[in-house]
Amino acid sequence: MEGDEIMDDVKYKVNIDDKLFLNSYNVDTVSHLDIKDQTICVDCKEKTCTHICPARVYEWKDGHIAIGYEGCLECGACRIGCCRDNIDWSYPRGGFGIQFRLA
Ligand code: SF4
Ligand code: SF4
Repeated sequence: MEGDEIMDDVKYKVNIDDKLFLNSYNVDTVSHLDIKDQTICVDCKEKTCTHICPARVYEWKDGHIAIGYEGCLECGACRIGCCRDNIDWSYPRGGFGIQFRLA
């Protein structure tokens, strides 16, 4: 009986990638995210932005932080997580960005 209950729970488990797959994006041509000063990122040992973002928007590449803003989930974690307050963060312009669909 207990096993059946566990299996009932398992039937409804969906991983985060499955959930994110349900979302769609209306991508703007202009980034809503920017680095205020890339020279600060060069000296930043933690590079928290590259770890904290669930969508892996930030990447340390060729000596600077590259931003793949198109995949942003608008969660705000990078804004709080950058200990040098070096991210210029805003929501995408009206009508653009992620459109969440809940399952
Ligand atoms: S955490 Fe902030 S300062 Fe460090 S690399 Fe990322 S954006 Fe730059
Ligand atoms: S708002 Fe969230 S998803 Fe978007 S770049 Fe920042 S941490 Fe990543």
